[in-house]
Amino acid sequence: MKRVITINSNDLEKSLYTKELLTKKLEENNFLVSSKLEENTIETKNILVEKLLNSDFQVSEQIEKNTELIISIGGDGSFLKTIQDFKFPNVPMVVINTGHLGFFAEFDPDEIDEFIELYKNNDFTIQEVHPLKGSICTKESSKDIYAVNEIVIKSVCSRTLHLDLRVNENKIQNFSGDGMLISTPIGSTAYNYSAGGSIIDPSLDTLQLTPLAPMNTIVYRSFTSSIVLSAKSTISIVPEYRFENSILVVVDGNEYRFNDITDIHIVRSDLKLKLLRRSDFEFWKRASEKFL
Ligand code: NAP
Ligand code: MN
Repeated sequence: MKRVITINSNDLEKSLYTKELLTKKLEENNFLVSSKLEENTIETKNILVEKLLNSDFQVSEQIEKNTELIISIGGDGSFLKTIQDFKFPNVPMVVINTGHLGFFAEFDPDEIDEFIELYKNNDFTIQEVHPLKGSICTKESSKDIYAVNEIVIKSVCSRTLHLDLRVNENKIQNFSGDGMLISTPIGSTAYNYSAGGSIIDPSLDTLQLTPLAPMNTIVYRSFTSSIVLSAKSTISIVPEYRFENSILVVVDGNEYRFNDITDIHIVRSDLKLKLLRRSDFEFWKRASEKFL
């Protein structure tokens, strides 16, 4: 039986060209290549809009059953979308970068031959990544969301957000400001870093809480630095409604609006993503290449 590899690509011309070339080369190497069908894409887009209106996150693209590897062609944004679309698959994934930054990427389009050789020879390592799980509770229901990079809690209409923050049921503070960002180690180099949070070595098991524009006056007292917590912690956020009863929850850059949230609990999930990396992958080498 042939080994199955699924390719997911964004719509950039460079990505589509890379996908075509990669498919041809993988087939020459006796792999069966699968990708989502065009008609599914259209259908899925409609479902996506419908589901978002119901704020239901269970959107899934078709994935070939025996897939042993998913190749995402694009940038970090399209990789995050691939993960959400394929519902956090547990098979290894690798990114070929045709995007801008490509922090998740391991290969460039001109390294396809090298990639196939490494893959055939099992000459790679797997980096395990644990997404965040957010449980968003209202009086009537609870909804779970998952994020690779971060979950951001913001107010609607650019009003000040007021919330009650607890860690493991211990009250930490009444926060006032633009919002609260909770990031994974692998997401620490994204929005978290721009917001003044620390870059975390992904081999550490942590959660990071980073305040967005915290207010610090005699009226409002919020911590001004980010806080790094053990990955075993439960972060609880209870919104205080002063102007609106709606809150924005931004999951890896996708924004959802919720009404009447009573509380939000964020933990490291039990899900495990597997990123295929070159055998000599070194986080700090990658970080200095992309950031300094
Ligand atoms: P985007 O606005 O195109 O992404 C912003 C940049 O973040 C892109 O250059 C993207 O890389 C990069 N990026 C994504 N994940 C990263 C990671 N783990 N480490 C380092 N850089 C990373 O939106 P997008 O491409 O859909 O990505 C969504 C992410 O954007 C969110 O999860 C959030 O972290 C980030 N974001 C950042 C800010 C900010 O910095 N002020 C504001 C909103 C959202 P590519 O160029 O390869 O796509
Ligand atoms: Mn992007």
